[in-house]
Amino acid sequence: MEKTLLLIKPDGVTRGLTGEVLARIERKGYTIVDLKMVTATEELLGEHYVEHREKAFFPDLVEYMTSGPIVAAIVEGARVVEGVRSLSGSTEPTLAAPGTIRGDLGRDWGTGQIENIVHSSDSPESAAREIALWF
Ligand code: GDP
Ligand code: MG
Repeated sequence: MEKTLLLIKPDGVTRGLTGEVLARIERKGYTIVDLKMVTATEELLGEHYVEHREKAFFPDLVEYMTSGPIVAAIVEGARVVEGVRSLSGSTEPTLAAPGTIRGDLGRDWGTGQIENIVHSSDSPESAAREIALWF
């Protein structure tokens, strides 16, 4: 069965949205097969976000992702990679569709910083790589 990595980012954990996010995953029929709380290091984030490491927003992303604990989950199900991306919604909270996690719960502070609650793997290959990094 396919697996994906879901991260509830520090804004989601700090705002008490862990249960809300996990409930949405479970209500969709996916199975949480592993779960833990982690504090990310810059080194781990550099590996996780390797495609963004050289981008201008990377320092802000590291600050955001190290601002508190993260809840990491391995989620299993049929076409779960696509499915959890779909439940997550598009990157920018302002543009993410209502009904998605980011559309319903994410925040844009208007300062260039966005808080979009979750990460989810974008392909089965990314999922395998990211699960190995976080678990
Ligand atoms: P995702 O796959 O939908 O999470 O989006 P990306 O892979 O494009 O970016 C990874 C994460 O970096 C996003 O979820 C945001 O938290 C952050 N991010 C992406 N683009 C920007 C940006 O332009 N500014 C800031 N501050 N953060 C960004
Ligand atoms: Mg991405």
